[in-house]
Amino acid sequence: MKVPNANPLAGYLARQPEIDAAVQRVLSGGSYILGLEVRAFEKEFAAYCEAGHCVGVGSGTDAIVVALRALGLGPGDEVITVAHTAVATVAAITLAGCTPVLVDIVPDTCTIAAEGISKACTARTRAIVVVHLYGHPAEMDAVLSVAAAHDLFVIEDCAQAHGSRYKGRRVGSIGDVGCFSFYPTKNLGALGDGGALITSDVAVADRARMLREYGWDAERNSQVQGMNTRLDEIQAAILRVKLPYLDADNAARRRVAARYAGELDAVDGLSLPAQAPDSEHVYHLYVIRAAKRDERLMALRGTGIGAAVHYPRAVHQMRAYARLASALPETERAVNEILSLPMFPEMTEAQQQTVVDAVRRVCA
Ligand SMILES: *Cc1c(COP(=O)(O)O)cnc(C)c1O
Repeated sequence: MKVPNANPLAGYLARQPEIDAAVQRVLSGGSYILGLEVRAFEKEFAAYCEAGHCVGVGSGTDAIVVALRALGLGPGDEVITVAHTAVATVAAITLAGCTPVLVDIVPDTCTIAAEGISKACTARTRAIVVVHLYGHPAEMDAVLSVAAAHDLFVIEDCAQAHGSRYKGRRVGSIGDVGCFSFYPTKNLGALGDGGALITSDVAVADRARMLREYGWDAERNSQVQGMNTRLDEIQAAILRVKLPYLDADNAARRRVAARYAGELDAVDGLSLPAQAPDSEHVYHLYVIRAAKRDERLMALRGTGIGAAVHYPRAVHQMRAYARLASALPETERAVNEILSLPMFPEMTEAQQQTVVDAVRRVCA
């Protein structure tokens, strides 16, 4: 039996009649850009995230670009983030004209090491982009205290952590702005591209609304040099169908994770993902560490298991970002050890057993 790493088709099929009806409603409605569906989704997603405002945009990358620009950041400003993330996090910082400064991670959750932030601060540092990687919240209390000490904005990259909580609060609502991607495989996935940012600062939300559409104000008079990055009506309608199921889907991911933990705990040479106290992991990915990772990866793939590596290169190890190189020992160790096992809410027990049996075999 083949088991994919992620399965956005299963997510569609699980709600097909509702999604088809929502798409048909948009098609017959005649309003395709920034209409009722986007407005309703923004309200519903802000409420879900326990934030004041939501602004829908074209992608998760653009959500970060718009967030930085809406906070008034641009050329000359340094923004601290991690090198162990989707490259989009760092790409967005450069797209906003800012200079990324990369710091190391803590090994247990692969999220930003707060003690590295102070050391990376200069007179030009303006913000920190924290990434709640794999669905596990970063250590926000530590990040917020460094940010307060240095007067920095905190942007949360929540592209892998929709619905996750840190000390009871939804991620994205803790810092100044939370940024989300609705890429199809994410915990809340559209059937195409999409993104959003949330904030409790109405001025930031208003600026973000302008920036996403040519810098326009209500009179279509460009007040700032804007972009075109709008969430579209069809994707918003699909997201409105899926949002009410997000908590149940995350609970299903946690059940898959609990079963993996029970079955793989005793396997030699593996270490399983940790969950910090007070943090709720939503398992966008189930990432283990394995000795002889590449050998095991190849062996699993050979048996049809959708094993993968997120991510095989840290950002500073890619050509486009090589000039950002610095010594990041935990990051560089992680990229050689991490291995993502199949993880999606619709995964059956039989599929999971297939994965577990294969992992035990290749690690024997
Ligand atoms: C997916 C992802 C992004 C980018 O989202 P897009 O919608 O693909 O632009 C940014 N950051 C992280 C951590 C991601 O996983």
